[in-house]
Amino acid sequence: MRNYLKHFINGEWVESTGSDVEEVINPATEEVIGKISLGTKEDLDKAVKAARDAFPSFSTMPKEERVKMLERIAEEYEKRKDDIIETITDELGSPLTVSEKVHYMMGYNHFSQATESLKEFTFIEDLGGHTRVKESIGVSGLITPWNFPTNQTSTKIASAFAAGSPVILKPAEITPFAAIILAEIFEAAGVPKGAFNLVNGTGEVIGNGISSHPDIDFVSFTGSGKVGQKIMQNASETIKNVALELGGKSPLVVLEDADVEKAAKVAVNHIATNTGQVCSAATRVLIPSKMKDSFEEAVKKVLSEFPVGNPREENYVGPLVSKKQWDTVQSYIEKGKEEGATLLAGGTGKPEGIDKGYFARLTVFSDVKNDMTIAQEEIFGPVMSILTYDGLDDAIEISNDTVYGLAGYVVGEDKDALRKVATSIRAGRIKVNDAEADFAAPFGGYKQSGIGREWGDHGIEEYLETKTILGFPS
Ligand code: NAD
Repeated sequence: MRNYLKHFINGEWVESTGSDVEEVINPATEEVIGKISLGTKEDLDKAVKAARDAFPSFSTMPKEERVKMLERIAEEYEKRKDDIIETITDELGSPLTVSEKVHYMMGYNHFSQATESLKEFTFIEDLGGHTRVKESIGVSGLITPWNFPTNQTSTKIASAFAAGSPVILKPAEITPFAAIILAEIFEAAGVPKGAFNLVNGTGEVIGNGISSHPDIDFVSFTGSGKVGQKIMQNASETIKNVALELGGKSPLVVLEDADVEKAAKVAVNHIATNTGQVCSAATRVLIPSKMKDSFEEAVKKVLSEFPVGNPREENYVGPLVSKKQWDTVQSYIEKGKEEGATLLAGGTGKPEGIDKGYFARLTVFSDVKNDMTIAQEEIFGPVMSILTYDGLDDAIEISNDTVYGLAGYVVGEDKDALRKVATSIRAGRIKVNDAEADFAAPFGGYKQSGIGREWGDHGIEEYLETKTILGFPS
């Protein structure tokens, strides 16, 4: 049982000033695996004070020292590899291989990338008529969701540390344990007191507390659009800058000359990885009308390569994170049927032979029209919508007919068509032919998918202010 009833404030593990606790549930077993304290406004105030006190020295720490600190963090992170993998499998239900290859590695890559980006980063530049100085934005509040417990936390923290900005982190209350390990890593790596503070708690108390706190200069949030709006409203009271990484309903455009089997595999992988709980997942798959039958056949075949089941066994797909998420996914599947889409595979209920855990069936709808609810709303589960198009312009129009703009995907051979689709989709990240991830590449959304860019040097920029000095003595 993991009982973490303390917050990490000013370099120490301290008791919560309140008595409320929250149980954390393993979604694969439905068993309680531990507890956290739900922090109070007083806990948050202490953390903010610690970060403020740390600001003068942390923000002016020489770049070389910050580089060394990030290198030590990456070393300590590696030492905790097994704990991180086990913890994410327990709290999120992610299969062990996914916890290692996706979750563990993403966290590691953000710390290494921030180190490399920092080495090359220019903080002061003489531009002839003026000198441009980049300085820490100040005390930063970080609010993260449950679906990638080491990815969103690590990218935000690594960038903030590179920029010299002290932070207060509030992770999602349903997957809080990976963040506790991160706090232990920073302690072991000798991160200065007050530069990293962790306060667990609810969105209502600690989340709202962060976005409206007069002594917090910047909020970086990853999560739902609804909460993003609330954060902007609260932040506006003190003209606080915000970065928002929100939801998506990303298209995957399959070109006429694409290899059907390969394309089907890419499409299914999107709804299977992390059980479809991925903001940038391609959940609308656009195929040429004449490819409909062959593509649907290929998808049905590929599904068996992604077994759903116990995340501690050889499965690629674990459960959804919670009963609430399971119910949400079920209601979207019902909605898809009601609105007239054809259920090609999966459906409501649990996969055959599974009665415990929040497992859902990999579900594929065809004959989906882009104005249906399942094509417009983010489901955040393993549900694919197949839509047909006639001609590239039609594919691009359907792709962009959404309030979101986080990501887009295109697979095929014709270079001109690949370029046309890649440059025409209004989204922050486009992948051509399932290209490899690049942690130096900016990540973030257009439209209602957010504001700002994380990862690499763009991530560092978010935690900086720009100052102009005229007549700076050389
Ligand atoms: P959520 O918005 O419900 O919660 C996210 C975090 O915000 C949690 O820590 C929660 O406690 C906190 N929160 C809740 N109410 C708050 C408030 N009033 N003020 C401040 N904080 C508050 O989202 P979720 O269900 O945890 O995550 C799923 C959502 O996150 C999806 O919409 C998904 O697309 C999005 N997401 C986006 C990205 C991205 O990079 N764009 C990545 C992952 C997830």
